[in-house]
Amino acid sequence: MGTRSVHTLVAMVAMLQLMLPSQAQARIYGISFIPPKLRRRIFLKKPWNKTPMLIRYARRISRPLPYMDRRCLERLRGARVPFRLLKGVVGVRTPVKLLTYRLGGVTYRRAWNNKTAPWILDCKTVENLILAGPRLRRAGIATIYWNSAWRFSFVHHTRRLSRHAYGEALDITAIDGSFGYASVIRHYERGRRGCGSANKTRRGAALRRLVCAFTGDGLFKTAFTPDYNRIHRDHIHIDHPGRRFKLKVKPRPFGRGAASDAPAPRSSAGSRRSADESDSGICRGRGWKKCLIRKWWEPPRSRPRYY
Ligand SMILES: [Zn+2]
Repeated sequence: MGTRSVHTLVAMVAMLQLMLPSQAQARIYGISFIPPKLRRRIFLKKPWNKTPMLIRYARRISRPLPYMDRRCLERLRGARVPFRLLKGVVGVRTPVKLLTYRLGGVTYRRAWNNKTAPWILDCKTVENLILAGPRLRRAGIATIYWNSAWRFSFVHHTRRLSRHAYGEALDITAIDGSFGYASVIRHYERGRRGCGSANKTRRGAALRRLVCAFTGDGLFKTAFTPDYNRIHRDHIHIDHPGRRFKLKVKPRPFGRGAASDAPAPRSSAGSRRSADESDSGICRGRGWKKCLIRKWWEPPRSRPRYY
């Protein structure tokens, strides 16, 4: 082969690379389920949040696909966590829509400022949230108010996908428990590190205990607090669930004819806990706005105006 043809070949490969999405983009889970026309649009910088655009391609499935983390799902089933297995959640390897707001004895309430946030996470994130339960309860935390779980967006001011896009992050705006109600924007004391002993207020200490409970020995590898930057002044972002932690339960395999989730409780006690069909997870064939649902867990009225 002459030098000329080698050059032509190199040029062709370069052209192909330009035409195709980059390797990192090509590796994104769930992308094959969305129409090719839309695939290019999800890598445009605007709109920043593509979740409303992509949520409608999520579909319920009864068994894990080959690339999914089957073991993790079997442990969730073993722990009797009610969930729905999904496909087509762009970016997430093993997407589960949780049918409960209680994980590890802690209640996860959707914060009022993002009522349509899907309660969809990667299986591993869910497992680690459950494992964080006992530590959170020891820290006196009963409820965590979150406003973003799976969200397909970039890290602010970059073209790098946020960990939210992988279903591996959670944004926490407030907590409540034995110390009362503590919101990140009002009660977080900047510049006081440690696990609460350096804090002046009870609520500030509780927020530091929250960070320690999640990141203590690597259950979650990252926590961005208001100390990190201005974007995080009103929430604590946790991400990157550690892989070495596992629920100590007997895994329940996906048997013949097994549904993907534990049977949804139909009793009056159970149905209060489980999110219903119309919950903001999937709103097929309708607009994003139509997914707004009033929930039984509307936040208490005693909350300060700017929480
Ligand atoms: Zn975040």
